[in-house]
Amino acid sequence: MIVEIISVGTEILLGNIVNTNAAYLAEKCAALGLSCYYQTVVGDNEKRLTETMKLARGRADILILSGGLGPTQDDLTKETAAKLFGRKLVRDPHTRERIQAYFKKRGKRVTDNNWKQALVPEGAIVLDNDNGTAPGLIMEVNQKTIILLPGPPGELKPLFEGKVYPYLQAKTDKVIRSQVVKICGVGESMVESMIKDMIDVQKNPTIATYAKTGEVHVRVTAEADSEKHALKLIKPVVNELKNRFQENIYTTNEEVTLEQSCVDLLLANELTISTMESCTGGMVAARLINVPGVSEVFKAGYVTYSNKAKRKVLGVKQSTLKKYTAVSAKVAEEMAQGVSLLTKADVTLSVTGIAGPDGGTEEKPVGLVYIGCSVKGRTKVMEYHFDGSRMKIRESTVVAALTLLRQCVLEYFSEITFGKGKNKKN
Ligand code: ATP
Repeated sequence: MIVEIISVGTEILLGNIVNTNAAYLAEKCAALGLSCYYQTVVGDNEKRLTETMKLARGRADILILSGGLGPTQDDLTKETAAKLFGRKLVRDPHTRERIQAYFKKRGKRVTDNNWKQALVPEGAIVLDNDNGTAPGLIMEVNQKTIILLPGPPGELKPLFEGKVYPYLQAKTDKVIRSQVVKICGVGESMVESMIKDMIDVQKNPTIATYAKTGEVHVRVTAEADSEKHALKLIKPVVNELKNRFQENIYTTNEEVTLEQSCVDLLLANELTISTMESCTGGMVAARLINVPGVSEVFKAGYVTYSNKAKRKVLGVKQSTLKKYTAVSAKVAEEMAQGVSLLTKADVTLSVTGIAGPDGGTEEKPVGLVYIGCSVKGRTKVMEYHFDGSRMKIRESTVVAALTLLRQCVLEYFSEITFGKGKNKKN
């Protein structure tokens, strides 16, 4: 089945808001096995919206529209869709009650224009919106399905997740299942070249790679007549990916983030951690602290931006700073060791780099970063060269730091395991 996504809103056209709804909907539709060949953005304009829907109606089975369901005059998605598909708008008493209750709960009176949101296309399926006043709507007209969703992502996502997804799933006689394989420490082109032979012959399951900052996610999606059969098709492909990427795979679980996998690794091996950051200004610590339960392992996070702080807090030697400068492998090493002495953490991470846009030289350009990781006193320092804006460089640094952390802990235990044969690893 073919789906087309139409995002309605002049704000999106003007670039005032980023069209995250389309990205979200497209990803969900792909997971459902729906083919999406076109996405459109159209302003709050009846004529152009009608043209857009006509075009979409001619080439897709399902139209998903987001935005323009609000109470004001310029919110005209529902009115335009109902008109084009020949449906009258009728009062929906159930939605009226919900709107009343919504306002009452907030101690407010319903304004007259809100009642517009209780008008629904005749025969439409009404999807109760628990986070706002505009319900989602589904019209089924002449083999076509038109789904209307409110624009705010906080309303659209729960509606899609809870109501539209099961509706669409029930429409397809096929079961679509997918599994993600999350890879860190290998670039996107390298990942693609390592699985080119698999991608070349892919059919069912399909294999798709998605580049994230510092990570690559490979999604394996199978279509079958039952869940069991779909999972059976996925399993050998995922096993082959595990074979090829080994410990660069940090999870095959959709919900697990890189920082979660790091914290799990530390927990599994009963290791504590402290961080010492310069150019990332605490972002590494913040990513780790995103993980609930991190207090079991996280000891301290320092931001030592100035040379003086690096010396005073961590004991980085004045002579080292003078000889190698603050952005150097040697300083990253002394930072990692300094925080280890200071906090007695089993594992320490240090970051020093030039995030730009100024401050780079020919010898030490913007984007040069050193990350140190010390595991039980064994320190490794890596040099990186990142591109992009100041923020992009800092974000890439955080992912590289977490990747190095995993790598160092795994290396430490694999070497010890070979030597003594009984240390834990994840
Ligand atoms: P409301 O009930 O708030 O009026 P609506 O369905 O009329 O909702 P819009 O007025 O089109 O939606 O948009 C409301 C807000 O929702 C926008 O200001 C924006 O913050 C967000 N929004 C709308 N469309 C998108 C989109 N495609 N991607 C991300 N956010 C969006």
